[in-house]
Amino acid sequence: MKELHNSIQTIKGIGPKKAALFKKLGIATIEDSLNYFPREYEYRGAIQNIASIREGMVTLCLQMRGAPKINRIRRGFNTVTWKGYDDTGEIECIWFNQPYRTKSYKSGKLYYVYGKAVKRTNGFQLQNPIVEEYDESYHNQPIYLPVYPLTNGLSQRDLRHLTIEALKILKNNFCNDEVDSYVTSRISQFKDIDKVKALQLIHYPKNQNSTMLARNRIAFEEFLNLQITVQYYKKKLHKNNKGLLIPISKGIKDSFLKSLPFELTDSQKNVLDDVLSDLSKGKIMNRLIQGDVGSGKTVIAAAALFFVAMAGYQSVMIAPTEILARQHKKSLDSLLCRLESKNNINISLLVGGMKESEKSLVKKKLQSGEIQILVGTHAVIQDDVAFYNLGLVITDEQHRFGVRQKALLKDKGKTPHMLVMSATPIPRTLAHIIHGDLDLSVIDTIPPGRVPIKTYLVNGEYRQRIYQFVKKHALEGNQTYVVCPLVEESENIDLRSAKEVYLELKEGSLKGIQIGLLHGQQGSDKKDEIMEAFSEGKIKVLITTTVIEVGVNNPNAVIMIVENAERFGLAQLHQLRGRVGRGNKPSYCILVSDIKDDLALSRLKVLVETNNGFEIAEKDLELRGPGDLYGMRQHGMPDFKVANPLTDHKLLLLARQTAKEIIKHSYQENCRKIIELVVEKQIKNFAAVN
Ligand code: ADP
Ligand code: MG
Repeated sequence: MKELHNSIQTIKGIGPKKAALFKKLGIATIEDSLNYFPREYEYRGAIQNIASIREGMVTLCLQMRGAPKINRIRRGFNTVTWKGYDDTGEIECIWFNQPYRTKSYKSGKLYYVYGKAVKRTNGFQLQNPIVEEYDESYHNQPIYLPVYPLTNGLSQRDLRHLTIEALKILKNNFCNDEVDSYVTSRISQFKDIDKVKALQLIHYPKNQNSTMLARNRIAFEEFLNLQITVQYYKKKLHKNNKGLLIPISKGIKDSFLKSLPFELTDSQKNVLDDVLSDLSKGKIMNRLIQGDVGSGKTVIAAAALFFVAMAGYQSVMIAPTEILARQHKKSLDSLLCRLESKNNINISLLVGGMKESEKSLVKKKLQSGEIQILVGTHAVIQDDVAFYNLGLVITDEQHRFGVRQKALLKDKGKTPHMLVMSATPIPRTLAHIIHGDLDLSVIDTIPPGRVPIKTYLVNGEYRQRIYQFVKKHALEGNQTYVVCPLVEESENIDLRSAKEVYLELKEGSLKGIQIGLLHGQQGSDKKDEIMEAFSEGKIKVLITTTVIEVGVNNPNAVIMIVENAERFGLAQLHQLRGRVGRGNKPSYCILVSDIKDDLALSRLKVLVETNNGFEIAEKDLELRGPGDLYGMRQHGMPDFKVANPLTDHKLLLLARQTAKEIIKHSYQENCRKIIELVVEKQIKNFAAVN
């Protein structure tokens, strides 16, 4: 199998120049090329006789005779010629600048050749034909050729040459690994199609059925790999199923509920009950809370943190950004303050942007048990942070954390409870994949009194009118976000940048209104200062980037403007829109886009038409595929090459079931090997994206 990890430059005809081009397609090794799948297939048509051909693309079945001849025409230009025969005559095959062809074939053997027939004075010549070995079992079947996505400088011929050679190497070097043996021996629909065959057929199918089967075989393995990994870590997380027992008396619960500034919605009450019953059962909690933006997940987290602290254990709550961590700290302070004075719960913050001295003080207090609740970013996970007695880990906006990161966090305590909060409603099909078998609670209503957000899709010509609208609101004390796709102007792309818009508005339409600029390149002190000013209403209009995407809560903000809206994913736009409409005033989301493309526009219209996060997520998945959803690719979400969780649901279920079997039998040699193989590979992929 080592050969598969070799550079494609070990293949004849591929030098550094070509290799650099292939690199652009993500192909560096022979294995990469095998995993570079055709976009579609070109039908070669039936096999013809030499005597009956006309000019154009033809497929022949030829016996090649004699040795291929190389003709050096001039410097940098050579041809290889070779004669082939069938019952009706002979024909010359010619390849331009492909000297390796002299060594590729055996005289006397039968081959299929597919190329362009060109009329010459002494008969037809077949130019640059593709050559494949004769295969009796498929002889009368139609023949399909792969059509690959290309990049400038590479042709289909280059790609086909590469994959044909790579498949040969595969065939000669592949020893069926444990995964393959397991799949072919256990899954009846794949009993005749091992990995090698599947790869061969997906590149060079013999008929349409064989493509489907090959494709399914590969999709299945993609699902299987992920399922094994997810379930492996799940088992690891659950290993010691006995969890801390957090006693929750009715008195404590009532005092918490009474201290809140609002009454919980029914939906929140149910979810809270789920959580409390987990905590008080003495088993480890592994629960995912899903709820649309603004559905009120924070208060559930606060409750869990409070009860765990009351039981004498520490908790940690992790947010994906510093801004969000700070905001959580603030929300918790205010939600627990009335209780805190009574019970002395120390809530502290630990984020990357803090001074070293502050950080080390927090770490010390954490280790000694002085701090009960820690709020932080994932710096907390990676640093040398030790807890005194960690009892609960809450991760917010979970899709940003990989399974493995969670396992790492978990290792910081003995048997801490795990609570995961996801603001992005993930379609159920995907939730299965990403979260494995977490218990699921859903907050499916939003707190009462909210006025639905009105969403508009407009082009740039409306800007002045929009700014007048913003100004009017600012003068009434209401606040606005303007989100831009870039921080700074770029020469290469024509997009609105935050700095540019900031200057434009400051001196122009919004002169006299307090406006602020917030982006990821600022230091964290600066960011804090601006967020603070915005929360306090000192800044009326905040020009920013997606740094404010997740979770930021300012009930007084009523307008969200997104510039170059076409640059954002639907789920992301929905998140952004969720920054407004958090109070009880009417709110507006204005998507600005000058794009003319119909598909892009219809995508954006989904947001105008619905406020339902689940619907939007489904739509996004449909239109962009799972890889792009929520930018998951960057956050540890695997990038399926052929599998599609929406349409391959049956395969997905089969893969889950199979993974379960494998994990269950991990004491058997073959299953243990499978797990090792797969998990190691997934971790490598994971490390590559993180
Ligand atoms: P998210 O689910 O997006 O994290 P938050 O927890 O930030 O939502 O809640 C959004 C806003 O709704 C907050 O201002 C919070 O105080 C408020 N809120 C939460 N629950 C209720 C409720 N039951 N009644 C009224 N307001 C609520
Ligand atoms: Mg939140």
